[in-house]
Amino acid sequence: MKNNLVHVILFLTTLLSSCIKGKSVDLVVYNAQIHTMDEAGYLFNAMAIKDGKIVEVGPERQIRNKYASDEEIDAQGKDIYPGFTDAHGHIFSYADQLLSANLVGSKSFDEVLVRLEKYQQKKHRSFIIGRGWDQSLWEDKAFPTNEKLSQLFPNTPVCLIRIDGHALIANDALLKLAKIDASTNIDGGIIHVNKGKCTGFLVDNAMNPIYELIPPFPEKEIMKAILEIQDELLQYGITGVHEAGIQYNQLGIFNKLIAQQRLVLNVYAMLMPTKENKDFALKNGIYTNKNLLIRSFKVIGDGALGSRGAFLKKEYSDQHNHFGVLTTPVSDIKAIAAFCQKVGYQLNTHAIGDSTNALLLSIYKNIFTVNKDHRWRIEHAQVVDKKDIDLFGKYAVFPSIQPTHAVSDQRWAELRLGKERIKHAYAYKSLLNQVGMVAIGTDFPIEITDPFLTIHAAVQRKNSEDFPANGFYISEQLTLSECLKGMTIWAAFAAFQEKQLGSLEKGKDATFAIFENKLTSTSEYKPNFSLATFIKGKKVYSVD
Ligand SMILES: [Zn+2]
Repeated sequence: MKNNLVHVILFLTTLLSSCIKGKSVDLVVYNAQIHTMDEAGYLFNAMAIKDGKIVEVGPERQIRNKYASDEEIDAQGKDIYPGFTDAHGHIFSYADQLLSANLVGSKSFDEVLVRLEKYQQKKHRSFIIGRGWDQSLWEDKAFPTNEKLSQLFPNTPVCLIRIDGHALIANDALLKLAKIDASTNIDGGIIHVNKGKCTGFLVDNAMNPIYELIPPFPEKEIMKAILEIQDELLQYGITGVHEAGIQYNQLGIFNKLIAQQRLVLNVYAMLMPTKENKDFALKNGIYTNKNLLIRSFKVIGDGALGSRGAFLKKEYSDQHNHFGVLTTPVSDIKAIAAFCQKVGYQLNTHAIGDSTNALLLSIYKNIFTVNKDHRWRIEHAQVVDKKDIDLFGKYAVFPSIQPTHAVSDQRWAELRLGKERIKHAYAYKSLLNQVGMVAIGTDFPIEITDPFLTIHAAVQRKNSEDFPANGFYISEQLTLSECLKGMTIWAAFAAFQEKQLGSLEKGKDATFAIFENKLTSTSEYKPNFSLATFIKGKKVYSVD
């Protein structure tokens, strides 16, 4: 990304204060294409910034006549947008991924084993974790078994988590530690057994006994990884993340990084519904610590489609008599919904399968009857029965979507769902038509963080290799403007932050990015990046 740096032509000028006329501000940006993303969709050329806020955005002559600043930026006609928000990402999982053996893109299980050996030679971990394998990229596409893995690591526990986080393979040493064998049964989980022996392949809740054993990485390593992730996001002009589910100790890590003034991203963190987190919500109510806002819980309704954990109304088209699983019992979902209502929190529920979506829509009806502007979200909303989709509009349920999932999953989604159901999957335009808004994210680290890939997936319905040529179920494409709103102002709305973030207007945070290339959408994927990213008027990233 950085090899185009010679093209950088932003000029930051420091003027002598003696020749300044007009109202004093901290920064004036001019000669820009400022896409305000306000209601009217105004495009202006200049803005004045003071104390981290936008004082005024308007025509260049007006702004430069009216305001004076020691610092000015000539944006050389470049596009400026409000900083992007990734409305569904997992910072801690991504940090874990960076610290684990990287299995993303492995072309076979043998390659997985080679990568593990290399990782262990370097790291000497007493418990090996690998992440990111995806058997759909392998020649035989079958889920792996643990024989070779157990031979290679007979004594060290090894846990290899699938790309979607909804399945894993454990070696025999780890199965023994977790007391899992062929006779074990776990509600909401699947333990694969072959010829009377557990193969080590575990899905959804069956992973829980393993997860309980995984030792955390040292806090220092985690903090370092989070800052690397922050840098990666800022390079793309991403200034905010809706962190889709954290534990109480992770909240502590965010707060430490904020106290050290090292975490600058706007983080809207959803709490996992643990006892500690519920106590936190009861004690604090809506919680703000500088750039961290907490006022929601995350519930995981079902699994993922790839590992056949998504809970469907009718059997999987490629597995007879299999429907997937509801990972949280209905009574628990209802209880957390009631708790959210009581403490004034938003509920955001992971729902992939049409059965899970239908269930949640019926549960969300209750909050709608007492609060029409509840903004409770369904994360993913991936497969929705045709006859349920109107309920999003009827009960004002906010869809939170990840367009790159559509173009990644298109390799096998139709196999799982069949020709009819697939028409109502990844139906982003239909969802947008329901409440007039969608929040857009990537679900990183399941997908990569690149927001320009998200634009390509949402607008062209293609992946980074421009496949499929005519777009995947193209009738569900969004316009560029809709996609950009989903990454800015609508994402802000989905986190109750629209008064502060999401558009470049008077009084709002001066949080924006200046992009190298014009933001367009063409039939071919074109990479882009931020030349400079600002949060509250402060430059937090620049290429020079
Ligand atoms: Zn997620």
